[in-house]
Amino acid sequence: MFDLVIAGAGPAGAIAATLLHRGGFQVALVSPHIPHAAPSLKEHARIEGMSERVFKILSELDLPTEGVFPARQRSIYWGGLESRVNREHLVDRTVFDQALQEKARSTGVSLVSGLVRTITKDQNELLLDDGSILKAGLVVEARGRRAPSRTNSLRSHPTLAICGFTAPSMKETAQAASISALPSGWLWQASEPGLGTWSQLVVDATSLPPGQEGLESVWRETLAAASSAAPTGPPEFPKDPVVRSCELRLTTPELDPQLLTIGDAAIAIDPLSGHGLFWAISSALMCPVLARAVLDRETGLAKTFYRNRVQETFWRQARVGRDFYQLAHEEMKSVFWSNRASWPDTKPSHANIEKPAIKQQVIVRDGKLKKADTLLSALDPNGVAFIEGHELIPILKRLGKGPMPNPADFHAQILPDTDRATAEHVHAWIAHRKQAGGLPDTLL
Ligand SMILES: Cc1cc2nc3c(=O)[nH]c(=O)nc-3n(C[C@H](O)[C@H](O)[C@H](O)COP(=O)(O)OP(=O)(O)OC[C@H]3O[C@@H](n4cnc5c(N)ncnc54)[C@H](O)[C@@H]3O)c2cc1C
Repeated sequence: MFDLVIAGAGPAGAIAATLLHRGGFQVALVSPHIPHAAPSLKEHARIEGMSERVFKILSELDLPTEGVFPARQRSIYWGGLESRVNREHLVDRTVFDQALQEKARSTGVSLVSGLVRTITKDQNELLLDDGSILKAGLVVEARGRRAPSRTNSLRSHPTLAICGFTAPSMKETAQAASISALPSGWLWQASEPGLGTWSQLVVDATSLPPGQEGLESVWRETLAAASSAAPTGPPEFPKDPVVRSCELRLTTPELDPQLLTIGDAAIAIDPLSGHGLFWAISSALMCPVLARAVLDRETGLAKTFYRNRVQETFWRQARVGRDFYQLAHEEMKSVFWSNRASWPDTKPSHANIEKPAIKQQVIVRDGKLKKADTLLSALDPNGVAFIEGHELIPILKRLGKGPMPNPADFHAQILPDTDRATAEHVHAWIAHRKQAGGLPDTLL
């Protein structure tokens, strides 16, 4: 019997499998697309954007980056806004996902080829399409948006992405990417020499005409206005279109100790944010510590930790997305924009922290969950517990109310047991927060 069996081997499931095995667990990863096995679930081409931050995290975690193309500038044509400050990588998801599965296998994870039919969570069992049953100490749900939906899950307005390789191409030789707001939708286009141009049109899904003809007419009508917005004029309808639903979903706001749910299966974010892959990795990163707590039946802290991470991520991303839709809504007044510019609510995207404060939160220390004091301020709205591996609040208490010592005295008096370079980093971080009003008066 395995300690854990993971249903679904997209980025969340495959990375969780590798990290769990590194953490000492026996893990099985179930996928219909095991490399070298006959696939039992049809997947289409998927090209997505990846931030430079995600690329860096993959390297730091010794995870593969096959299928990830070099970063390129992203042009934004968004209502009145035109900008070229962001950069993004392109990812060929077929190649990337297979490399992640191969990494899991070479790390020691057991790859099981099959389609999950049902999960009987109170028995910790998976039933596969060939009738076989897999049993484990704990089941992880990582089937992305294909995971069974829950009746009480929260969803934004029905939204569809119609995507595929298209002509005319953005300059064939250029590594380019652009995002353009249109009167009733938005278009992401990305081009890579040798790969072609990928176009992704996002539209409202409430009243789409049926069939491929319906999709084609929506494509043509929505893009009729694109000539001024997109740099290359409207792309033709893709030869092999891929249709994906992409509304936001909050499916598991609370931890279910019988079914650890991660990635898009837990929360699915608007593709506009480019944050989906980041969430897939960060939810995989929390798996080992949550699995240990659940298997040891210490679920109190695990529930708080999971709730904070899942809900903070969902609400922040939903509200940041809403604010971005509002920018374009100032220029475009259609229902597509007015619906999205007002969902999910009117609360600010970042908590308004007027005064820095100390708040106790559940954090990870030495691979275990524990309660610790964290510093909250407008500069650090999610709270900071550690700087360079040292607990921050005890350091601030040792510093007391006096003036900030110079770096050498700080090292000698406040952090004598660490090396000089680390002490200097901690000193610089605290000095910056002190100058910017990011430390509470009560401590200093
Ligand atoms: C149109 C669109 C565009 C996007 N663009 C971006 C972007 O540019 N940047 C970004 O960061 N994010 C983007 N995202 C989000 C990103 O795709 C997801 O956040 C990410 O794929 C989530 O990873 P996951 O592993 O949770 O789920 P998935 O990637 O969906 O993986 C789930 C896995 O489970 C498998 N599976 C499903 N059912 C079963 C079953 N019954 N049995 C066994 N296995 C099963 C699937 O085959 C798949 O391999 C986009 C999403 C959409 C819809």
